[in-house]
Amino acid sequence: MQIGDHCVVTLAYTLRDDAGSVLDQADPGEPFTYLHGRQSIVPGLERALAGAQAGESRRVSLAPADAYGERNEDLVQVVGRDQFDTQATLEVGMQFHARDAKGQVQTVRITGLSGDEVTVDANHPLAGVALHFEVEVLGVRPASAEELAHGHAHGPGGHGH
Ligand code: ZN
Repeated sequence: MQIGDHCVVTLAYTLRDDAGSVLDQADPGEPFTYLHGRQSIVPGLERALAGAQAGESRRVSLAPADAYGERNEDLVQVVGRDQFDTQATLEVGMQFHARDAKGQVQTVRITGLSGDEVTVDANHPLAGVALHFEVEVLGVRPASAEELAHGHAHGPGGHGH
């Protein structure tokens, strides 16, 4: 069957940036499984996979707008060390969950430390990055009623619960 809405898709992929560095990978022994049509993957990749069948390979290059979006410099803030109620030593690259002004949980990364000032960035780490996927479609099957109700794929490589 061809990939379309309400399909569960199993993929192996390699994701690289413009420089050719590998950012992420799922090999055939430990594939990635998702429910197509529910924005479980970046929008450009979901569009590019529509109509593909098991056994097909596709190369997909995406501008940031079709992947994790452009960087938003408004999401970079400088806060005091006293804003962190952790005893841990703060380091560049550490990630925290914080609530934004609307109460939504977001992931922020420390991107700078200077004296008592901590620079935190709530952009997705891949915001502003063009993505180059090499994707192999390993399997396509209809989603179960339970998967459609939950909005995600179950089983190996999918949601485990
Ligand atoms: Zn579920």
